[in-house]
Amino acid sequence: MSKEIQPIFILPEGTQRTTGKNAQRNNIMAAKLVAETVRTTLGPKGMDKMIVDSMGDITVTNDGVTILEEMQVEHPAAKMIVEVAKTQEAEVGDGTTTAVIIAGELLKRAEELLDQNVHPTVIAKGYRMAEEKAQEILSQIAENVTDKDEAVLRRIAETALTGKGAESAKTKLSEIALKAVKRVIEYADGHVHFDKENIKLEKRTGSSVEESELIEGVVLEKEAVHPGMPKMLKTPKIALLDSALEIKDTEIDAKIEITDPMQMQAFLQQEEKMLSDMVDKVIASGANVVFCQKGIDDMAQHFLAKKGIYAARRVKKSDMEALARATGARIVTSLRDLTAKDLGAAGMVEEKKIGSDEMTFITGCKNPKSVTVLVRGGTEHVVDEAKRALTDAIGDIAAALKNGKVVAGAGAPEIEVSKGLRKYADGLSGREQLAVLAFADALEIIPRTLAENAGMDPINLLVEMKAAHDKKQKWAGVDVFKGKVVDAWAMGVIEPLKIKTQAISSASEVAQMILRIDDVIAGGKAPMPQMPQGVGHPGMEF
Ligand code: ADP
Ligand code: MG
Repeated sequence: MSKEIQPIFILPEGTQRTTGKNAQRNNIMAAKLVAETVRTTLGPKGMDKMIVDSMGDITVTNDGVTILEEMQVEHPAAKMIVEVAKTQEAEVGDGTTTAVIIAGELLKRAEELLDQNVHPTVIAKGYRMAEEKAQEILSQIAENVTDKDEAVLRRIAETALTGKGAESAKTKLSEIALKAVKRVIEYADGHVHFDKENIKLEKRTGSSVEESELIEGVVLEKEAVHPGMPKMLKTPKIALLDSALEIKDTEIDAKIEITDPMQMQAFLQQEEKMLSDMVDKVIASGANVVFCQKGIDDMAQHFLAKKGIYAARRVKKSDMEALARATGARIVTSLRDLTAKDLGAAGMVEEKKIGSDEMTFITGCKNPKSVTVLVRGGTEHVVDEAKRALTDAIGDIAAALKNGKVVAGAGAPEIEVSKGLRKYADGLSGREQLAVLAFADALEIIPRTLAENAGMDPINLLVEMKAAHDKKQKWAGVDVFKGKVVDAWAMGVIEPLKIKTQAISSASEVAQMILRIDDVIAGGKAPMPQMPQGVGHPGMEF
């Protein structure tokens, strides 16, 4: 007797689903592809990527997180890997490529274990154990650093800049990064405070990167609104206005009927009077510099200029906030409230021509913990990449000072941790041991990639590096320029410990998360992720 089985639907129509091994393999494949994409950019000999967006705008960069953000990855698992890069960027500001490559390699090694029928939850557990151990080893091998160790801090900045578009001005930019961080970092009750908002990076094309400079104060991409205004004012009194020096259009459509010319005259006079009253309010406060977040009417500009007041309009909100921090001024939302108490102080306000445009410099500020780096470069692309590199350098110095620990780079810490993990695995049994060993193998991807990108033979190099580490040379790393194994610390390749701890923890976390997924349910309209075209743009090849 045959019974007819009614199909049961628990999901809405149009839902797509992959389960079990398929889901797992699909996700791992996508994650590996993301890692593979940024792999060629790692290290000083890494290549750059040119990304063209749908508008035809071009970005040329070597920066992991920038590449992944611009790529508009679509596959859900691949997106999780992109998140790793973003976290790394937010937490440290550098090491984004490293984090993504490790995540990809952890998944690749996990796949091999899956092939040997090791259960994903066992792999995930082993990875968690390995990650904890790795953190322990890293903090043991790290060296201490303080703000007195300027040579080390400079090396950290140089390491971040090596191989980037701005490398030619490495020494100059390192100096700027170091000075900027030292200027804004604060030490209070045993804690180190660093607010990256206090370092403003302002871009300007039309000169070489070497011409970049650190300005102790705030620089605005603005000129004085009126040519009759002073070009320079010493010990200015600065007002920050969040309201317009304009007469607002009436909210309701008012119709004013003018019947004779006298009335017209009176009307215009009335308007002029209102604007001049506004300017009088500014004068009454004692201000001789006005930065206005909104507009300034032509007539008001004229009145201000006549009184020798320097004014700039439509100043960005973030700049207004920087000005408030730097000069001690309060941002006033209503002109009526403006008093002498709200004004800020500085040594000088000056309009200067940089490149093809005028900029406003506010220097000698009340609060010296506010600086601006004027990033220069021949073209827009060069300046952009210089700015990204400088952001990495600043982030790295700050990260090093914040937790007071640094490591050498060039693949040395990865090999040292890998060695420690193998020893740790010796004491474990069963399948978790396999997972810890896989984790140890995965970390070798960093020196291997550095070598590959430099055109070296990665196998010989790894053998040599491991031999050196066995002889207790904990900083034995790869010199990508000379093609041999050297002491990375002595070579001056130094990075904040935080780059490594953060990269390893988020890579391991995402790998475990992806491994635990055995079901991908894509509801409604979202297209089901495909392999391998699922990653990135349509038409983007891997
Ligand atoms: P990330 O986005 O991960 O910071 P990078 O392209 O900046 O990627 O490369 C960082 C890697 O390059 C680190 O492992 C670092 O130790 C290594 N590195 C930097 N400078 C050198 C150098 N001069 N020699 C060898 N390795 C270097
Ligand atoms: Mg880097």
